[in-house]
Parts: sequence; C-alpha cells; structure tokens
Amino acid sequence: MSKRSSTVMAANLNTKKAKHWSLGLLESMKDPESIVKETKQAVVIKDKYPKAKIHYLVLPHADISSIYKLDKSHINLLIEFDNLFKEIQSDVELPLKAGFHAVPSMQRLHMHIISTDMVSPCLKTKIHYNSFTTQFFRPYADILEELKENGCIKKMSPELHKSLMSTELQCNQCTYKPKNMPQLKEHLLTHFK
Ligand code: AMP
Ligand code: ZN
Repeated sequence: MSKRSSTVMAANLNTKKAKHWSLGLLESMKDPESIVKETKQAVVIKDKYPKAKIHYLVLPHADISSIYKLDKSHINLLIEFDNLFKEIQSDVELPLKAGFHAVPSMQRLHMHIISTDMVSPCLKTKIHYNSFTTQFFRPYADILEELKENGCIKKMSPELHKSLMSTELQCNQCTYKPKNMPQLKEHLLTHFK
C-alpha cells in the first residue's frame, strides 16, 4: 500500500472515530433510505432498531437537543409533530402511540411513533421493553400540556428512572406477568394476529 493510501485510510478511521454513536440520528435524517416524510419544520425517519412492527422517529430540522430545551415558542413545532403522527396513523392499520423517552440516549429532539404490539427482533432487553411501556415513555399529549402550563419540561429523577427500568415485566395488552424476556416475546405474539 502506498504511503498516501495508508494516510487516507488512517484519516477515514479518525473521522469515523470522531463521530459519537449518539449523533447517529443526525446522519439518518439526511439519508433518503431512512426518511419516511419531510416537512419544512420536521422529518420522520425509520428507527434503525425498531422495537415494534412500526417504529418511526420525528425530529425537528432546528437544532434542539432534547425535550428539556423546549419552551412555549416550540408549541407550533409540537403541533406539527402531531399532524405527522395523524398522517402516519391514517396510513396504517396498527394502533400507534407517540411520545418521548424521559432520558433520551440520542442527540436531537425525537418523538417516537411506535405500534403497540412490541413485536420485533430488535426488542431484546427489559430496558428496551420498559422504556416504551412504563412512565419512562412520556406521551406526546402530556409533554404538550406540561409545556403549555409550565413553559418547560421537568427532568425525571435518577431514582425514578432506575426504578422504572427495573419494573417487573408485564404484558402491555393484558394482565400476564412473564418471568423473562423470551416468555414475554412469545406471549406478545399471541396478541399479534
Ligand atoms: P432514545 O434516545 O432512547 O429516545 O431512542 C433513540 C432511538 O434511536 C432508539 O429507538 C434507537 O433504536 C434509534 N436509533 C439509534 N441509532 C439510530 C440511527 N443511526 N438511525 C435511526 N435510529 C437510530
Ligand atoms: Zn398479554
């Protein structure tokens, strides 16, 4: 290998290293393969690791890092998110819900649009499951109301976060309490017909 090509390879490696995984949504927002819908203010993309049959993310073009940066001036943006949710719901048969994780792991504000089946090979851990089926999932309507009332979103305490993540498994569609994830996944299939 020439000196130049090894230098170019090393530079590419360095560039890749510099991009932290938490910036991944910013890449996906620009990728035509992952875009589902786009408006002046927002973009809907496919979640790369869907946790249910349908799982999308709605992100603003504006550089807003999370729900904790929202104020009353963002209410119109949230109404746009809801319009996108309604358009998507009208295109599909499965019931969908919309909301935000109380402690997001990825940068850029993103609202999850997810079907309630929770049937997906990417749903592997209790944390994955509990993050969509406990209070850790903050429904869209609650966030809009809190913003209208208080002008900001209050952070969740680390104690509550921890306890929600370790909540006992419980089917989100009936009273069944599985012992483990394989049991839960098998059970969820019985609701998905
Ligand atoms: P959270 O930050 O916890 O609200 O969730 C981030 C979501 O982004 C998860 O549902 C991931 O499956 C999803 N995700 C992670 N990386 C990417 C990516 N590069 N493109 C699209 N979705 C992603
Ligand atoms: Zn059930």
